[in-house]
Amino acid sequence: MAKVLKCGEVFAGCDTVIYGKDEDEVLAKEEQHARDDHNMTMIPMDTIKEMANHIQDGAQPRRRWFGFR
Ligand SMILES: [Zn+2]
Repeated sequence: MAKVLKCGEVFAGCDTVIYGKDEDEVLAKEEQHARDDHNMTMIPMDTIKEMANHIQDGAQPRRRWFGFR
C-alpha cells in the first residue's frame, strides 16, 4: 500500500507532501526533506515519531483530470 505524509502536519506551514511505496520510503524522504528544507541537521527521535504518526495510506494523485477539456 502506498503511503503519504503531509509535512505540514509535522512542520506547521509547510505544504510539501511526501509520497512513497511504503512507510520506510516516506520516512526516508521526509527525513531528507527536513534536512534540506527545514535546516535540521540532527532530527530528534520525537520528530521522527511525529512524522511516522502522520503517515497515512494513499497514493500520489493521478493527473487524469488535468488537460481534460
Ligand atoms: Zn516540510
